[in-house]
Amino acid sequence: MDGKIIDGKEISRQIKEEVGREVERLKQDGCTPGLAVILVGNDPASASYVGSKERTVKALGMHSEVIRMAEETSESELLGEIDRLNGDPAIHGILVQLPLPKQIDEQRIISAISPDKDVDGFHPINAGKLMAGLDAFVPCTPLGIMVMLERSGVSLKGKHAVVVGRSNIVGKPMSMLLLQQDATVTICHSKTADLPSVTKQADILVAAVGREGMINKEHVKDGAVVIDVGINRGEDGKLRGDVDFDAVLPVASKITPVPGGVGPMTIAMLMSNTLESARRAFKEGRC
Ligand code: NDP
Repeated sequence: MDGKIIDGKEISRQIKEEVGREVERLKQDGCTPGLAVILVGNDPASASYVGSKERTVKALGMHSEVIRMAEETSESELLGEIDRLNGDPAIHGILVQLPLPKQIDEQRIISAISPDKDVDGFHPINAGKLMAGLDAFVPCTPLGIMVMLERSGVSLKGKHAVVVGRSNIVGKPMSMLLLQQDATVTICHSKTADLPSVTKQADILVAAVGREGMINKEHVKDGAVVIDVGINRGEDGKLRGDVDFDAVLPVASKITPVPGGVGPMTIAMLMSNTLESARRAFKEGRC
């Protein structure tokens, strides 16, 4: 079993430690990285995500600003807040916690964040740069998966990677990153015919769907590396992934658990992107 389960908690701890050290170095040069997180409304899951981001930012010695706005906040009020943060030299990363209340157009909000401070990597400019292979902020979840694969010694060159899910946040950027590392990439989605016949070809299988346990033994080739992005809360209140972990464990060569796999990496990469943004600002005299 040794090394078979990819320990996202441990890898994320290492990343955070490294980021913390670099933050101290940058602070000695006179630049304190700053992350602003905007939370609109009262969704308890969103509030909990924002709370853990705030704690991590502070623990790593960065400047944290959390803006809590009422459920009935208008789009123009939110745009005003983003505009203020875009112009604030103490802030290097801006994150708007999704989902947003229905009166607010998510895409308009994402596009209003300065691409230079878009540490979530959701802005169309950063998405386009990733597609073109240019330097860009990359969405934290797929970026974290790439780091996990690298630190677990998984080589990608010439391998067949199958990504189940094509969202802008996970599936599409994941596919681009795997392609950049010379994997042969197949993207599956809800209209894919005979999903198991496609996933069964994967050397590396990434499940990013949001359906508890949908990937089982029939979907996985012997020896495949299986990455489970899904976060599903079962009726018993427990978190489970998209992969039926117990069924797939004997077949996979490596596998990520839920919780303790991809989830902790996402927040670590948010810290890493914020540090990177501050470094760029410092170099350009904007910090
Ligand atoms: P979306 O709902 O945006 O996308 C889900 C994707 O799954 C879609 O592309 C959809 O296809 C596809 N899909 C749905 N049903 C099937 C099916 N039966 N067979 C094949 N594909 C299917 O979700 P996200 O990408 O935002 O998130 C995916 C999961 O990852 C969720 O559980 C989410 O909670 C989790 N997540 C975890 C993170 C972490 O930090 N660990 C971060 C972000 C997300 P179609 O496009 O055709 O509708």
